[in-house]
Amino acid sequence: MPGPSLVLILNCGSSSLKFSAIDPADGAESLYGQAEALGTSAARLKWRQHNEEGDEQLSPTDDCESIIEALVGRFAESWSHLRERLMAIGHRVVHGGEHFADSALIDTKVLSAIRNCCELAPLHNPAALQGIQASLTAFPQLPQVAVFDTAFHQSMPDYAYLYALPYSLYRDHHIRRYGMHGSSHRSIAERGAQLLKTPIDKVNIISGHLGNGASICAIKGGQSLDTSMGLTPLEGLVMGSRCGDLDPGLLLHLGEALDYSLAELELLLNRKSGLLGISELSNDCRELEEAMAKGHAGARLALNIFCYRLAKYIAAYTVPLKRLDALVFTGGIGENSSWVRRKTIDWLSPLGYQLDAERNEKIRFGAEGRISRIGTPDIFVIPTREDWVIARDTARLAAKAQ
Ligand code: ADP
Repeated sequence: MPGPSLVLILNCGSSSLKFSAIDPADGAESLYGQAEALGTSAARLKWRQHNEEGDEQLSPTDDCESIIEALVGRFAESWSHLRERLMAIGHRVVHGGEHFADSALIDTKVLSAIRNCCELAPLHNPAALQGIQASLTAFPQLPQVAVFDTAFHQSMPDYAYLYALPYSLYRDHHIRRYGMHGSSHRSIAERGAQLLKTPIDKVNIISGHLGNGASICAIKGGQSLDTSMGLTPLEGLVMGSRCGDLDPGLLLHLGEALDYSLAELELLLNRKSGLLGISELSNDCRELEEAMAKGHAGARLALNIFCYRLAKYIAAYTVPLKRLDALVFTGGIGENSSWVRRKTIDWLSPLGYQLDAERNEKIRFGAEGRISRIGTPDIFVIPTREDWVIARDTARLAAKAQ
């Protein structure tokens, strides 16, 4: 029987809980599950481990706490072979504010710092805290670690993270750009450095994480120098249902001229905009590509705006890097949509970028590799491994706790 070698990763959101068991040594996944649509009658729990899969209805009253309790039950019975191998628990936490430039072993001080960040991430941090509390009760004997989406971006310089607002808002209320998707961009920096055969502290990469949420990061010497998400995940690129960059005056106009309340604005900007809002069809890139192929004008427009905005960001992010080793596409869209990659790179041809059309078509569905033409700036597709980054950080800090 092998010794404890698995990290249980918990990612608690306001309406979902994702969990997986990962071996930090090689990234192998022994268990993956997702509880979705929590708080509604459509709530379900889906999971897979080795050749087994499950898909069960949940009660609308189920929340992160009751699901974690149910997981404990499974670890005691059908998943007991996995329970024996758990060494620690890693929690994905969206906002660590300026408190955390690294992951942290959870203790009362860390919990109180996460609580302090709830004001900065009212949609995300309270759910993560609920999950952590439930998990501390459920697995009291295991070390638990918080891994922050913002931590990787704490290396940003002040000229990149400050908004051009009165400085007192930063000084007194911590209002600044923080960035998210840190574990994903970090995993791209690490894998990109390996593929380029360059030490991580020498590698310069632009990483585009394109999923339902999307952000781009300028990475210099393995460290984040700038990233497109800001105080919240709303800033930057066009996303599935988030708007990305806007004229801030537009918000005043919506409030004054069209009577939008704060709650309505929150819904509009986070849930009704982006690909969904423009296409009036779907937030899902694959569905939009299928609709575009059948002539749906809204789908084509939404995807065009997505790629145009992305190309402008890629061009802008060469500024802080001076020398660029590679542009990397990752996330569900970046890893799979050869159309989005082609359309985006078309805009960038004045900067010398050129795709190898055949490789661009081929590299999808979890594959990795270069998609640029030989002799032009390197463009890679690299599947993100944020879960592996979380597992490794958790194992590293848990070892210190022993
Ligand atoms: P999340 O941010 O929820 O983790 P993902 O990284 O899984 O999201 O990305 C989801 C997005 O990836 C969706 O828009 C989906 O349509 C897109 N996607 C997945 N597979 C494909 C594909 N084969 N072609 C185009 N888009 C795809």
